Amino acid sequence: MTSITVEHVSKQFTQSTKDGGQRVMALNDASLKVNSGEIMSILGPSGCGKSTLLRVIAGLIAPDSGTIYYDKLDLQSIPLQERGVGMVFQDGALIPHWIAEENIGFHLSLRHREDEVPARVARISQVTGFGLELLLERKPRELSGGERQRVGIARALARGPRVFLFDEPFSNLDAKLRSQARIELHRLLNEFPVTSIYVTHDQGEASALGQRVAVMREGRIEQVDSYDQMYRNPINLFIATFIGTPTINLFEGVVRDHQWQGANFGGYPLRPDPNDGKKVLLGVRAEDVVFAPGGVLARVEMATSRFEQRRVELELRLGDEQFTMIGDIGEGFRVGDHVP
Ligand code: ATP
Repeated sequence: MTSITVEHVSKQFTQSTKDGGQRVMALNDASLKVNSGEIMSILGPSGCGKSTLLRVIAGLIAPDSGTIYYDKLDLQSIPLQERGVGMVFQDGALIPHWIAEENIGFHLSLRHREDEVPARVARISQVTGFGLELLLERKPRELSGGERQRVGIARALARGPRVFLFDEPFSNLDAKLRSQARIELHRLLNEFPVTSIYVTHDQGEASALGQRVAVMREGRIEQVDSYDQMYRNPINLFIATFIGTPTINLFEGVVRDHQWQGANFGGYPLRPDPNDGKKVLLGVRAEDVVFAPGGVLARVEMATSRFEQRRVELELRLGDEQFTMIGDIGEGFRVGDHVP
């Protein structure tokens, strides 16, 4: 299997404006290492450079500076036909006038090995539990969005890729189909391990599929870690507020006698180095805010039921501070109530 190394890669684009053009830094000294056989998810706000990074890794666009390595080889030095990149896009990118079987067999037929297609299709169907065989005679316009994506994945897999790159493949699917397709892909990647990079907006998808997650911001890689580790130990405020839904609660406070003291509550021990008077933001996840006997009273500003998760999200106000907590769906919270 192949490792992927991105070393100090930058890429600018020129965008046309009314007064000529402006330069946009899509990648700004981005570096990343994806281990051989690893599945890495890439997450980040819209426009942070995720797709550009994937395209540079695929060799579809050349960086202005920096280098991509497949194992120890500079990608630019590997002939196109030997790169072995399997790519799956949002729209499937199937050839419209070919039936699914021809699309899946495209790379094999280039090597005169189209007779291997039925066995590969049968194996993929067996692993995913999805009846790919039933779609083989259909053209892309006769397939649903979910079916098109499955054919796209089968096509990329059928060529036996060295690296597998996904650019939001399921973003056009509804939530249920999306979660089904994600499970199928997970099974496939377990069965046919390939070094994979998966770009997505969806944190659930990123954490479910990626063994590690790289979070990007303004063309740079900000943190690479397991989702759980990033959730619990974000390296900075950007990661803390980007990772997790609802967004982490932040409370302003100061250090007093090595303790954190906020406007409405405090007395929490801190590590010894911050001096008295230093301002410190306290981050508390919504699920870590609990009702406690003798605790401070907060006013319910909004109660949003999440029936599918059997919980309610409460927006609470305490003096000038606003924060979120997770409540029990059966409690019947109303706006204006004071809790606990
Ligand atoms: P999204 O999540 O919205 O798909 P992204 O994180 O994938 O965004 P990119 O598509 O990589 O972001 O774009 C990064 C930046 O580069 C954006 O500001 C985008 O407008 C710009 N950009 C990308 N491709 C081009 C291009 N071909 N020409 C001009 N600007 C581009």
